Amino acid sequence: MEIGFIGLGNMGAHMARRLVEAGNKVFVYDTRQEAIGNLAARGAIAARSPKEIADLAETVMASLPTPDVVLKVATGPDGVIEGTKVRRFVDLSTTGAAMAQRVFKLLAARNIVQIDAPVSGGVRGAEKGTVAVMASGPRAEVEKVEPALKVIGKFFFIGERPGAGQTMKLCNNVLSAAAMAATSESMVMGVKAGLDPRVMLDVINASSGRSTATEQKFPEVVVPRKFNQGFTAGLMLKDVNLFIAEAKELGLPINVIEAVAALLKLTCEELGPDKDVTQIVQPIEKRAGVEVRAPSA
Ligand code: NAD
Repeated sequence: MEIGFIGLGNMGAHMARRLVEAGNKVFVYDTRQEAIGNLAARGAIAARSPKEIADLAETVMASLPTPDVVLKVATGPDGVIEGTKVRRFVDLSTTGAAMAQRVFKLLAARNIVQIDAPVSGGVRGAEKGTVAVMASGPRAEVEKVEPALKVIGKFFFIGERPGAGQTMKLCNNVLSAAAMAATSESMVMGVKAGLDPRVMLDVINASSGRSTATEQKFPEVVVPRKFNQGFTAGLMLKDVNLFIAEAKELGLPINVIEAVAALLKLTCEELGPDKDVTQIVQPIEKRAGVEVRAPSA
């Protein structure tokens, strides 16, 4: 299959590489020349703009940071919308349902079908092809890209309504963010009170408090002080804010997730939005005067 791929960052580089390795002809574009070069060295074909990508392939995928960037790349000048060959735009980014619907309408006016297919499972999941892929859009069109999406990860059809996949993704991500935030407060409290964080994690992971934060992020990334999960605090704050906006649009009360957003905002302000999402523990550590690390022997 011929596939265009725009956005070769932490997630996109792995997903595009997997599509190349599965035998697809993949055209790639990113604003960073280095990212294009890395993929071209693995057999992808370099392109010079989103429009050129959309001149070359019927199916164009994107893994871009924010809703605004997706809007510009998909529908702006020199964007996918101006391509001559493109028939469908598969957005693997997290943009929220409102933006997915907006892009769907703008592209539909040019007979291009937007399919939202946000993913979850982190950089390691993208590398191994184990991310959950939450696709929504017209079923017949989604079926055309299902084999390629199965190369990227575990495929789920969420529904025909544009944006349904995005809603699903946000519902998942706020749980991931909340687990990370709550585990940070719990671990800092335990360490301040004198507990060994490794013992704490062993106990929690054999108990009812376990989550992706206790099973993977704390033992592999926080306690060894690596902070290299590969997802930034700024992007997580974007996702949590998108969830809050969508929930408010539905008239729902949101309390827990607003507290999570406040802690993420504090992390972005004190450390920077480009810092790893696992560094959400650090503003709490700073105030407690302790670090969640293995005690030195
Ligand atoms: P990233 O910032 O590492 O990658 C984004 C890429 O897009 C970069 O290579 C950047 O150069 C490129 N880019 C930016 N503007 C561009 C433009 N105008 N045209 C072309 N390329 C452009 O982000 P990421 O972590 O790979 O995340 C990508 C998307 O996937 C985001 O929407 C994020 O929320 C979502 N996501 C990330 C993770 C994760 O663990 N990192 C997990 C699930 C979903």
